[in-house]
Amino acid sequence: MAKILCVLYADPEGGYPDTYARDGLPHLDHYPGGQTLPTPGGVDFTPGALLGSVSGELGLRGFLEAQGHTLVVTSDKDGPDSVFERELADADVVISQPFWPAYLTAERIARAPKLKLAVTAGIGSDHVDLDAAIQYGVTVAEVTYCNSISVSEHVVMMILSLVRNYLPSHRIVLDGGWNIADAVSRSYDLEGMHVGTVAAGRIGLAVLRRLAPFDVHLHYTDRHRLPREVEEELNLTFHESAEDMVPVCDVVTVNAPLHPETEGLFGDRLLSTMKRGAYLINTARARICDEDAIVRALESGRLAGYAGDVWFPQPAPPDHPWRSMPHHGMTPHISGSSLSAQTRYAAGTREILESWFGGTDIRDEYLIVDGGKLAGAGAHAYSTNT
Ligand code: NDP
Repeated sequence: MAKILCVLYADPEGGYPDTYARDGLPHLDHYPGGQTLPTPGGVDFTPGALLGSVSGELGLRGFLEAQGHTLVVTSDKDGPDSVFERELADADVVISQPFWPAYLTAERIARAPKLKLAVTAGIGSDHVDLDAAIQYGVTVAEVTYCNSISVSEHVVMMILSLVRNYLPSHRIVLDGGWNIADAVSRSYDLEGMHVGTVAAGRIGLAVLRRLAPFDVHLHYTDRHRLPREVEEELNLTFHESAEDMVPVCDVVTVNAPLHPETEGLFGDRLLSTMKRGAYLINTARARICDEDAIVRALESGRLAGYAGDVWFPQPAPPDHPWRSMPHHGMTPHISGSSLSAQTRYAAGTREILESWFGGTDIRDEYLIVDGGKLAGAGAHAYSTNT
């Protein structure tokens, strides 16, 4: 029987909810492009419940314990005295969400001799040292597509809120004020702007599709070019590299995975080629941007705004410079953890575990590392240092 160690974010400060703002979730048949939603044998939770926090347990306890497995759930994940560090020593499976990542470093993987499976309940497995997973034969899987649309909606929201100066204007209302000039002196229309995405995978393409009706000029760069009919439908301009694309853009959104090719991409050099007053939205991974270079670009006016929900480390310390830099619209890491998304990635995590314990293949589109190499979706979107 296996021990499953599940790291989830803490419950709400007011306690685990017993009611919700809405009574259910819309029914979705499939993802854009036809991929099916998760297909576990069953689920033990109510769709729309808070599943990603400790008491939600991703709805897994009944299923796992019925099979004789042990489930340990904790939010205590960092430092040598953490529950995660202690329980990892004899864990067979680790489950973690990017929003509250249990960093599976090479050292931790080396100290977990029984570890065979790391599941990302979400998308983006960069909190796992993939080279070490390859070396130690750990399978890494994530719930591909589960929150891609959730993130794309967040990106569109953040683009509009920066360009239109929404958050400072809302602050004026909260503070009892009414100075229109204060609100509008940084407010523009998105219409007519040039908007580019670094990567046009599931999220990037969904952002492009959602922005097309705003009558903007759309640009993208990616390692693989989109089909010609998609380029024509959305009137996309393709660029060979981020370096080629960003100088022509008023708004840039980052939707690539963090891997050796993208780490530190937005540093002083690339930022200096952006238009003065450009906006940068990064909901992909924080370390694609140089933390201090972003602050400098906002202070100098090179960037008119920066927004996103990804930080390093997570949780961000109270004195993280991105909390206090000017003209930012940061949120905690939430875009992919709406109640809607949680329902999908909890079901997808269960599907992966059913396959694993049932001895059947995990869907290829869920695999990142398997059999000692990048596999499935991971082979397509990631690179390693080796
Ligand atoms: P996809 O795998 O569908 O898309 C990723 C795209 O990035 C692929 O098209 C890939 O290219 C492209 N890419 C990889 N490297 C580069 C590069 N060096 N330059 C340009 N493009 C590159 O993933 P998703 O769209 O679903 O997710 C993207 C990322 O968003 C995730 O890896 C994760 O880090 C982040 N994310 C954030 C969430 C949040 O809550 N904030 C939630 C979900 C994801 P190709 O495949 O053509 O080689």
